[in-house]
Amino acid sequence: MNDKRSQEIYERAKKTLPGGVNSPVRSFRNVGCAPRFIEKAKGDRIYDIDGNEMIDYVCSWGPGILGAADDRVLEAVKKACDDGLTYGAPTLREVEMAEMLKDLVPSIEVSRLVSSGTEAVMSAIRVARGYTKRDKILKFEGCYHGHSDGLLVKAGSAALTTAVPDSAGVPADYSKHTLVAAYNDEGSVEALFKEYPNDIAAVIVEPVAANMGVVLPGDGFLQFLRDITTKYGALLIFDEVITGFRLALGGAQEYFGITPDLTTLGKIIGGGMPVGAYGGREDIMRCVSPDGPVYQAGTLSGNPIATAAGLATLKILKEDKQIYKRLESRTLVLKDAVEKAAAGRVSVNQIGSLMSIFFTKGPVVDYKSATSSDTEKYAEYFKYLLDKNIYVAPSQFEAMFVSDSHTDDDIKATCNVIADYFRDHR
Ligand SMILES: *Cc1c(COP(=O)(O)O)cnc(C)c1O
Repeated sequence: MNDKRSQEIYERAKKTLPGGVNSPVRSFRNVGCAPRFIEKAKGDRIYDIDGNEMIDYVCSWGPGILGAADDRVLEAVKKACDDGLTYGAPTLREVEMAEMLKDLVPSIEVSRLVSSGTEAVMSAIRVARGYTKRDKILKFEGCYHGHSDGLLVKAGSAALTTAVPDSAGVPADYSKHTLVAAYNDEGSVEALFKEYPNDIAAVIVEPVAANMGVVLPGDGFLQFLRDITTKYGALLIFDEVITGFRLALGGAQEYFGITPDLTTLGKIIGGGMPVGAYGGREDIMRCVSPDGPVYQAGTLSGNPIATAAGLATLKILKEDKQIYKRLESRTLVLKDAVEKAAAGRVSVNQIGSLMSIFFTKGPVVDYKSATSSDTEKYAEYFKYLLDKNIYVAPSQFEAMFVSDSHTDDDIKATCNVIADYFRDHR
């Protein structure tokens, strides 16, 4: 393995960028080595500046469902560039995007485009508060909803309390309206609703959690959230920034048949460009400015290049009727290989093209069980794979993403490396 240039640039990067990176997990700190600096990517391959060619299972943390630099998406982007990069005025493509979202995502009637998942969630929460005229938000431990103040929280020490900031720079006053329950734990949600029956504006949840590693909702959990929010007059927000267009065209809400009031989208919706969106029931979304009193705006929202990439990607997903079957069957090959090779030493969670290998006996059903994983073992596994040119997430608590560019041969090669790892590390 040669990563000489990456190491050199990392040293240089650390002088002018915090941790040498523009987003923390890219630094590889969790696995204790220098990150690879990337030169280019195509299909299921990613190339670093030392010339290593790797099979990529990070896929830009989700957007790359077609694989990198899909020719059809590139063509749409190049064509859009010729017409100018931004106007700050409405375009037909934004209308087509809103119509596409209404067509594909069951809960969405009206939507607004923004430029990141963080922005989408932050805005959806403001709408939920504006609509219900309530202040509190209930989230789940281990679910990530972007880096806005009120959501960057962890559970307080008492069993039933409001959250405490999980980052310096977040005033406790900002997090005091956020309540934290345990994923898959209906009792913890019920208790908070009993304590604050008229104060909770919304419950926000990743319908499949994918930011503590992949954790599936238990039987009936999403239906329970639908029922209890309706009972108490709170809104249900599905944060589908990862699951949207990933589990099914209509996201987790289509997959599980549960309709939230509001949905947040990101990642795949931009086809590799910065796009986010939030949307939902028309009467709720009419609260958004200039139709209503909830202010939200963006200079580059609905950017013409970004919407060209996003629309091209969504059209491909919509027209390819077999794509979700293909993605899942490839992922199942990986899952079976890991389970066979690891023989009970890890716990594998998988749904569609999302998968996590937890270095714990499991089952992994929530934050507590996810964090029982042996992260040092994961780091060892990560480095072993990287050395064999298999690029997976540099953290135990991130998903493995399979794309439509992963060939059967590359999946097989990956299975062999994973099998070797478990054979060599008893
Ligand atoms: C990635 C992610 C976000 C944040 O999106 P950014 O585009 O990184 O701001 C929010 N929610 C979920 C579920 C995510 O996975």
